[in-house]
Order: sequence, then C-alpha cells, then structure tokens
Amino acid sequence: MNPNETLPICIAGNWRLGQGDRYASLYPATGEPIAWLNAASIADVEEAISGADHAFRTSGWAQRKPHERAAVLYRVAQLIRERSEYLAQRQRLDNGKPISETRALVASAAGTFQFFAAACETMEDTITPMRGDNLTMSVYEAMGVVAAITPWNSPIASEAQKMAPALAAGNAVVVKPAEVTPLMALELAKICDEAGVPKGLISVLPGKGSVIGDAITVHPLVRRVSFTGGTSTGKHIAHIAADKMMPVSLELGGKSPTMVFEDADLDHAVAGVLYGIFSSSGESCIAGSRLFVARGIYASFIERLAAGAAALRVGDPADERTQLGPLITPRHRDSIESYVATGVADGGQIRTGGTRPSGELFERGNYYLPTIIEGLTNDQRICQEEIFGPVLVAMPFDNEEDLIAQANDSVYALAAGIWTRDYKKAWRFGRAVQAGNVWINTYKQLSISTPFGGWRDSGLGREKGRLGILQYMEQKSMYWGLNEEPLPWAG
Ligand code: NDP
Repeated sequence: MNPNETLPICIAGNWRLGQGDRYASLYPATGEPIAWLNAASIADVEEAISGADHAFRTSGWAQRKPHERAAVLYRVAQLIRERSEYLAQRQRLDNGKPISETRALVASAAGTFQFFAAACETMEDTITPMRGDNLTMSVYEAMGVVAAITPWNSPIASEAQKMAPALAAGNAVVVKPAEVTPLMALELAKICDEAGVPKGLISVLPGKGSVIGDAITVHPLVRRVSFTGGTSTGKHIAHIAADKMMPVSLELGGKSPTMVFEDADLDHAVAGVLYGIFSSSGESCIAGSRLFVARGIYASFIERLAAGAAALRVGDPADERTQLGPLITPRHRDSIESYVATGVADGGQIRTGGTRPSGELFERGNYYLPTIIEGLTNDQRICQEEIFGPVLVAMPFDNEEDLIAQANDSVYALAAGIWTRDYKKAWRFGRAVQAGNVWINTYKQLSISTPFGGWRDSGLGREKGRLGILQYMEQKSMYWGLNEEPLPWAG
C-alpha cells in the first residue's frame, strides 16, 4: 500500500477523489495509516444520489429478468472468493480484527451475494384468492435509490448484507461506510463494477456520519435507509424517516443475556460464553455481555470462565492464532476503560482483565484484556449500557422467575443465550426471553438464510432470510377486471 497515494471513492460509478477532507484509515494494531482518502463532500452526495437516480431510471437493471440480475450477483460472489485472501488482509488492516475472523467475514460476504442471487431468481409474486370478478395479484417493484449506512465492526459482511439484497431487488445503492473503515465498501463497489452491475448504480461515500450520513438520509430521492449502528443514531434516522414517510430498517445495539443452568454441559457452556462475549474483542452487537449463572454452580463456573478468559490469546491480528485483536480506536478503548472504572466505583470486583496488556507488542495498538466483573446487580449502569468491548458482567440467579425478569430488564432485546440439557426448560426460556435471536446450547452462530434483527431499542425490521430482499421493494396489488358487464355505477 502506497502511503502517498490518495484513494478514489465511487460517485455514481465515477472513481475520483472525494471533495471532502483528506484522512487516513489507521491500523488499530499500530496506529499507522494504511490508506489515505478524501471524504465525500455534500456536493459529492448530491452527485452520487442524482447519478444513482438517473442510472436506476435508464440502465434497465430493474427491468432485467431476475435470473439475469442474479447472474451478475453470482459473479460478484465468485470475484469475492477469488480475491478472498487479499480482502481478508485488507479488512484486517482497516479494522484490526484477527485474520481468522476477517477470512470468515469475507466468506460470509460471498455467501450473501450468492444467497440473494438465488433469492432474486426464485422469488415469486402472488396470485391472491379471488373474491370478486377480478384476478388479484400482489407483485413487488424496485424502490429506486436506497442507502446503506454501516458501522466499523464487521465491514464487508455488513455492507454485503445490504448491497446484495438491494441490488437483487433492482435498486441503486448509496453506501456510507463508517468513517474509520472505508476500504471494504470501496472494494465491493470495484467488484460489482467488474461483475457487470451497470455504471452509476453504486456509490460509496466515506465521511462523517453526522454530515454525509445525514445528507444521504434527508435526501428526497433516497427511498429507504438500511442502517446498522448505535441506538441513538438509529433513533435520529428514524425521526428523519418519519418526516419523509420513508421505510427504514435499523439494526442497533444490544446488551444480551446468557443464562447458564445447573444441568448445562459446562464444558460447552464455558467455551460458548467466552466466545459469545470475547470474540471480535466484544465489538459485536450480539455479544453476550450479561451472564446469569445458577447460584449452585456460580462460584465454580466463574472460576473456570476467568481462567479461560485469562488464557485467551490477545495479540497481533496478522497471527493466525490470535483470538482478540486491538479495539478499533484509542477513543473507543477510553470509553471501555471508563465503563470498567464505573463498574468498580459502583462496587464491582474484577475477576480477570480490567487493564491493558503489557509488553512491546501492545504499546502502539488499542488493546484491552478480556475482562470479567462480578458483584453488581442488573440495574447498575454497566449492566444496562452497551459497552461494545471485551467486558462481561456476571451475576448469580436463584430461580426461574427472578432470572427471566432480570434477563428481560433491559432497553435492548437483540439476542440471548441459554445453556441447559433440559429441552423443555430451553423451550420455556427460549419463548419467554425477549430477544430477536436466541441461541440454545450455542452462541453467535449466524446464517444468511435466517432473519436477523432486534426488538425495542435493538432495532426495527429484519435483514437476511429469503424475504430480506422484500425490504428493498415496494409491494403493489393489481386487480384485473374479468367481468363481461360494466360496473354497476354505469347504470
Ligand atoms: P454509529 O451509530 O456511531 O455509526 C454507525 C454508522 O452511522 C457509521 O457509518 C456512522 O458514521 C453513521 N452515522 C453517524 N451519525 C449519523 C447520522 N447522524 N446520520 C447518518 N449516519 C450516521 O455506531 P458505531 O459505528 O459506533 O457502531 C457501533 C454500534 O453499532 C453499536 O451500538 C452496535 O451495537 C451497533 N451494531 C449493531 C449491529 C446489529 O446488527 N444490530 C451490528 C453491528 C453493530 P461515522 O463512522 O462517521 O460515525
């Protein structure tokens, strides 16, 4: 990577320098710039959206037969796979995740394009039951220009999850990646160009969310926003959407409970809880960040968990064995440290972690050790607010009623984990817990074929699943009159 080079951005298919401020994407493991680019300006946003609207109306993409659009998206999946190692390394540099994780994210992005290509070519409109002398149908149409606004924690996967269904549905897509992780959206746009997505249908506009993201959201030609990010930003976007009468999907934050019962397979539960909170360094909306353990096994379980957390390999994201890489920015690490300090001030005790790792390797990166805090109650601040880092709060529970009340006592309702060998109990809790996604005797397993989303402050709408494509389409009902006689109105 040439540090003197300024990367072009994609404005309605034209690759040129953005007109906003120049900035660098920094490698979180060292703080060094890995690529320079100019952010988009407001004028770039205008050009991208009017260009996208023009391409939507004139390129014929939405009018192509579904299997023809699908063929292009299959090619996107194939190109992602052909370049998978390059993309995984680039994403590692852009956001500091361990290479094993970025490889998985790249594979998931390819799978997402493949899945929505298949959804596109197999999607059916509906003939609805006739209730009069009309043949009645329900069909779907592309919306026009749609926007995808994504966070920094899993770039290529988040962007693919929005771009693939939006393109499959026949739309033009304007992508606003997180300011600090712009590279993967740009790579995907290049691949889409090469695969044959018509010019102008894709724009990638890096820059500050409060400026560029806002300008995209309020734009009258943008017909839908699919947003993944923090709850307060999501609420802000929902207000704008209400004014525009624009549909939105919002994938927001979480503070997900994991419940471990006495009858659980404890080897599996220890491994699952560690993975649930500490993979992705806890920078995950579905992180299992609140742990409830049956009081009878609480002490021994936490002891095993703390030993397991202390043994996790924190280190260089380029090393295949690394389990936790650095956090995204120094500022984000400051916020995590401040949450841990709050937990301690409120009476919490640190069982493991609670500090930065020491040693030369860690001096320049934003590292933080996997941390377990106990001695707090569910109503305290660090048990209620999303920390978005490698910090687990652990609490004992005494009975089922008390447990479900605590698990559901959160503004968030994104995910939950249940560890028990009793399938009836798993069913009871699986139904009673308020969450968009429930894992039973496993955690953080995701599939593109299964809808994903949250309740309450964790969001609105669903992504993924075959019907995910419909989020990017308008539904239209058609009535074909079959009556030989005029309507009675005529006399
Ligand atoms: P933010 O909400 O700060 O940012 C998300 C995206 O929105 C970024 O591209 C950001 O730009 C942009 N943005 C910021 N302000 C505005 C605005 N006013 N209008 C339009 N766009 C805006 O979240 P983070 O980047 O901090 O991501 C972490 C959050 O994302 C966590 O809360 C996490 O739970 C949530 N998340 C949810 C997931 C889910 O599927 N439920 C998955 C992954 C993360 P900029 O980069 O400039 O800030």
